[in-house]
Amino acid sequence: MNTALLVKTKRALQGDQEVLLDVLEELSKYIHVPLIKATCYGLIYQYVMNNLIDLSRECMECGGICCKYGELIPLYDFDIQDLGSRGIEIKSIVIKKDNGYYLPRPCPLQADWRCTVHEVKPFSCLSYPFMVEDLQLEVFLNYEGIGPPQFNIPSFCRAGIKVLKYVNRVFSKLGTDVEPITLLRFILRNWKQVL
Ligand code: SF4
Ligand code: SF4
Repeated sequence: MNTALLVKTKRALQGDQEVLLDVLEELSKYIHVPLIKATCYGLIYQYVMNNLIDLSRECMECGGICCKYGELIPLYDFDIQDLGSRGIEIKSIVIKKDNGYYLPRPCPLQADWRCTVHEVKPFSCLSYPFMVEDLQLEVFLNYEGIGPPQFNIPSFCRAGIKVLKYVNRVFSKLGTDVEPITLLRFILRNWKQVL
């Protein structure tokens, strides 16, 4: 993705429905490409995860594992600007590697299981677990374009598993061959009824 599309996608994952629809409509022009279709599904699941379902109990019970263990968390320039706009001093905590900047794990911005920078958390954090490369790269590359991808959600991620179950309830109403943009419009209109 180019930077402009990444910025839009970050806004979408933060909860901007109009921008999400815009991104999905743009990507839908290439929906015949399995990787693009998998990305569309990933965006929808992740939007549900970040914005529609209360997952605080699941994340509390898990203890915030996703912020504690795993690869370095990449930071885009716009992530650094977002964090800086809230006065968060990150110079002392970021890691510079191969001309890029990263947050370590365990993340120093976590307190107990919570993220202390929730409103301005980085793109990669907003993308967990349905859109992160560490988990989904193989899934996306092997996806053949039929129905939703079989997302790789770790067993400890109760929140992700709850989202999978939620979207499966939507599929039981619409069928799994529904196009991502139709799935998204249905969810945006009816998400409370499906809870
Ligand atoms: S998103 Fe998943 S892994 Fe992260 S804290 Fe919540 S339940 Fe745990
Ligand atoms: S910035 Fe927040 S969401 Fe991202 S790893 Fe750190 S504590 Fe977790």
